[in-house]
Amino acid sequence: MKFNSVLESIKSYEAGKPIELVVREYGISPDQIVKLASNENPFGCSPRVKEAVCSMIDYMSHYPDDSMIKLKTALASKYGIDPNELIIGSGSDQVIEFAIHAKAHGGSKVLMNSVTFAMYEIYAKQVGAQTIRTSSREHNMEEFYALYLEHKPSVILLCTPNNPTGDAIDAESMLSFIEKIDSDTLVIVDGAYMEYARFKDPSKAVDPQDLISRFDNVIFLGTFSKAYGLGGMRVGYGIARHDIIQSLYKMRPPFNITTLSLEAASVALEDEAFVEECIVENFKEMRRYEFFARSKGIEVIESYTNFITLPLPEEKNSSKIAQELLKKGMIVRDLSSYGLNAIRVTIGTESQNDRFFELVEPLL
Ligand SMILES: *Cc1c(COP(=O)(O)O)cnc(C)c1O
Repeated sequence: MKFNSVLESIKSYEAGKPIELVVREYGISPDQIVKLASNENPFGCSPRVKEAVCSMIDYMSHYPDDSMIKLKTALASKYGIDPNELIIGSGSDQVIEFAIHAKAHGGSKVLMNSVTFAMYEIYAKQVGAQTIRTSSREHNMEEFYALYLEHKPSVILLCTPNNPTGDAIDAESMLSFIEKIDSDTLVIVDGAYMEYARFKDPSKAVDPQDLISRFDNVIFLGTFSKAYGLGGMRVGYGIARHDIIQSLYKMRPPFNITTLSLEAASVALEDEAFVEECIVENFKEMRRYEFFARSKGIEVIESYTNFITLPLPEEKNSSKIAQELLKKGMIVRDLSSYGLNAIRVTIGTESQNDRFFELVEPLL
């Protein structure tokens, strides 16, 4: 059957290998498998969230509250914005989809970093838009500006901190870049890991309220999948001026967030102390990775996230190393499909990280 020709240029998104698959393919028992491949919070979510979700179990037969007022009110108060400056998505992924699809079309251009989140390109190509990429591995605002002038893209994606490299854009230089962009270009600031960056270095922290009070062409994205430990619940959000939100709402299917997910996200916001403890532990454990890499002569990309990317020396092939680790039940992310000879490792618990060092040691 012949489908839309735009599909011919799209490669399906490759998610981190699920534990279930490794069980089946390698016959390893699930308790012997460590997954450090999808930037999940190794400590899970707040115990209060678990309790709240259990107490809602009888509401599974009800359609969700499609106004999402409880979650919107909680998010609005966290960020000092109005609830009508929010849109909630099934993961922030869905908000990226709404935004790119609402703005880009066949013939328009979408500008992004050379190495960045794979879904941006997929959503752009779905509407026949052309993707333009910078050449530096890290976001370089001068390069972005030169390409903006040359191509006049309809959408610009800034991923800070960036997945899969972990680096973050200096907030001031990002703001002065956005100041120079015409108001008909939509700038998407993907802050999936912003909680980590804000903790580690305030000069990397982007404040969504400040962003939307200054600019009428920007949307900030956040998610409950990373620091809040709710990847399986699929809740993310976009923050922008009300007129942008109104347009994006036209892209939204009804009831896109489940009853249990709405409850989980709302209650997660009541336990910021849990998130903070996880972030403290994350950066404490990250130091062990940095130490390990240096002792092996491996470059360290300074990370503002819950993962670390280790570029490997030429003679070590990242796909092979990821494969060898997989056979032993250790799932990490090979970045060869991003054009990097590198592996990306989510910072796990102390014992998960011990296991990683033990297994990777003989391979390097
Ligand atoms: C994980 C991630 C997202 C979205 O995750 P959701 O689970 O869909 O909320 C968005 N952007 C980046 C850069 C990510 O790493």
